[in-house]
Amino acid sequence: MQAHERIMAVAFFCFYAELNDFLPRQKRGVSICHEFTERASVKDMIESFGVPHPEVYSIEVNSNFVDFTYIVQDKDNINVYPISASAIKPSVSVQPQPDIKSFVLDIHLGKLANSLRLLGFDTLYRNDYEDKELARVSSSENRILLTRDKGLLMRSMVVYGYYVRQTDPNKQIVELIQRFNLFKHVAPFRRCIRCNGMLSQVNKESVISEIPESVKELNHEFHRCLSCSQIYWKGSHYDKLHSFINGILSKAESVEC
Ligand SMILES: [Zn+2]
Repeated sequence: MQAHERIMAVAFFCFYAELNDFLPRQKRGVSICHEFTERASVKDMIESFGVPHPEVYSIEVNSNFVDFTYIVQDKDNINVYPISASAIKPSVSVQPQPDIKSFVLDIHLGKLANSLRLLGFDTLYRNDYEDKELARVSSSENRILLTRDKGLLMRSMVVYGYYVRQTDPNKQIVELIQRFNLFKHVAPFRRCIRCNGMLSQVNKESVISEIPESVKELNHEFHRCLSCSQIYWKGSHYDKLHSFINGILSKAESVEC
């Protein structure tokens, strides 16, 4: 053997449950034989299959749970689990799993951002956020980064993130309620849809000069955004919003059962 030749090693990977969404059909639910020559962490090897690290809950190597820094060895048997598998098979997470209910969304998920705010969740969204900024905000503010960009989730700075599977915004919100157990935390009309600020109930007199005549006569309950001062009232669109929210919740509940 020449001195410059690298030794070929092999590891066997198996990805569980929804982690298979990231794999080509022939690699789903089977043991994948992975040849390698370079020293690499298990995190880098998992991502080389296209599975973003924030989607991984636990990693089992030869029956021991390891974290992302583990260096893969020749003939390792590696099982990779998402969070849903933790309910069936007790495991040790690769990182602490705080009960986070706040989010930052990439620029393509504007409608989902609106829905999350409507349901009262702390949701950062701007249509000019760049990938670097999204990763930084997610990391520094401990927010779950929501995106359909796998490359963005693979940025090393991102700790908590999720690849939104659905493309229809109405299905996306149902998917999120189920994935993050948001059902019991829904608090409609608590957040400003425009800026994510908190709403505070105000009396009619304090807003009377800022609202249209027709609104003055028909409405008695008003809220103001503490951040951008936008005024909200239970106008004609309120019933539409209410049925929209009830529709989302009943869909999420029926799938949950
Ligand atoms: Zn606002």
